[in-house]
Amino acid sequence: MPTYNAEGVVVRVRDLNDTDKVLHILTREYGKLRCVAKAARRPKSRFTPAAQLFNHLQFQAYTGRNLDTLTQVEILSSFPGLREDLVRIAAATYACELVDEMAQERQPLEPVFALLLTALRLLGTPEMPVEPVLRGYELKLLALMGFQPVLTGCLACGAPVEGSEVYFSPGAGGVVCRRCAPEAGALRVLPRAAVEAMRFLLEGDLRRAHVLRYSPEVGSSMARALEQYLEYRLERRLRSLDFLQQVMDTAGR
Ligand SMILES: [Zn+2]
Repeated sequence: MPTYNAEGVVVRVRDLNDTDKVLHILTREYGKLRCVAKAARRPKSRFTPAAQLFNHLQFQAYTGRNLDTLTQVEILSSFPGLREDLVRIAAATYACELVDEMAQERQPLEPVFALLLTALRLLGTPEMPVEPVLRGYELKLLALMGFQPVLTGCLACGAPVEGSEVYFSPGAGGVVCRRCAPEAGALRVLPRAAVEAMRFLLEGDLRRAHVLRYSPEVGSSMARALEQYLEYRLERRLRSLDFLQQVMDTAGR
């Protein structure tokens, strides 16, 4: 595809040199692409407004050996609701960094693109609570990338989840029964309600995540369990996650 058209979301922006930027764009058609936005570091370039994180674009580019180059771009949405609140900015930045880390270049995965777009729309909606949307996004993204956590029964023997507290193995990615726990290595203990909430978020529609009600304790158990599982999968910690936790703490959310 020497010259091609695509629809995508800007998930990362970095400087290439004194004048140009590189955009990582998660596209509907071709998966993740890296495109040069020429002169986007200059205030009056035609690519400057497009070269912003979260922008939903329709664009034309041509394929290069290493990086593609943008030739035309139209901003479909810049998610203004996302840009007015620091917690929502931090949450969307994390959502973008996570998919940028997990998606492979030029490997089309249309459902991942659709999931990101839905998540950004929800995070940009002031009435929509941030936390359940992020947890649902993490779970669904893991599932789409082939790392769906096992939440219905013990991942070693299949025994059903019982009791008010459940063992969760971030390394193996799922719940473990009491009998298999000694062989499963490092474990977290989660309230059973956290496992049930994760199942609801994993199986349900992300747009319905806000109907889920849970205690702060259940919320933080879910967040920590998924954080550890993702760190294990990515083999590193995302910078945007520290920023998100900082602003959420400051905002008291
Ligand atoms: Zn078991």
